[in-house]
Amino acid sequence: MTGPADTSGPAAPAIKAADSLVALREHIGDCHRCALGDTRTTLVFGVGDPKARLMFIGEAPGRNEDLKGEPFVGAAGHLLDELLAEIGMTRGDVYIANILKCRPPANRDPQPGETQTCTPFLEEQVRLIDPAVIATLGNHATRFILKTDRPIGALRGRLFHRGGRCVVPIYHPAAALYDRSKAEVLSDDFRRLRTVLDRVASGQMPDESGDQPALF
Ligand code: SF4
Repeated sequence: MTGPADTSGPAAPAIKAADSLVALREHIGDCHRCALGDTRTTLVFGVGDPKARLMFIGEAPGRNEDLKGEPFVGAAGHLLDELLAEIGMTRGDVYIANILKCRPPANRDPQPGETQTCTPFLEEQVRLIDPAVIATLGNHATRFILKTDRPIGALRGRLFHRGGRCVVPIYHPAAALYDRSKAEVLSDDFRRLRTVLDRVASGQMPDESGDQPALF
């Protein structure tokens, strides 16, 4: 798949197009392009298969991720691993990144200026990895990728097309840690995600469900 990433955010500083994830990481360097560079412990670039067919996009590093330099390593990460196992996958089969690469203080929401400054790096990761399916985890990732103000609760369970890719909005695993009723919903959505991946692997592009409940 060679279509554009279609994850363009608001006008952002141009970055040098990288020819590999390693080169992109080197380009980002010891980033202080926004104020989060002054408060983070470790920049969290992303992890996983650089040619993954499935890419997860979350919000921002939390405390554990900030300390370890890897996305989704805390309780939400363990749940993500369990959900992947339910559909026969491991985190080594996918790629995981966030909207922001540095932890916002006290895990506050990303601010628009931070998102605008940091997401060109994410766009480059999407272009280089070229996933067939993007699963957006929670409100911030979903709103950025789908360019919408609608909440994740109104979008999960549906399938969208962006730039030749399937986009599947899913609750952030952290939501299920605070609201156990969402755990079953998450399991359902991961099963749907498996269906989407299988259809794409067989050469079928699942229909976009848009505002209709998904039939996949
Ligand atoms: S959040 Fe992004 S733009 Fe801001 S300092 Fe970290 S890597 Fe740089």
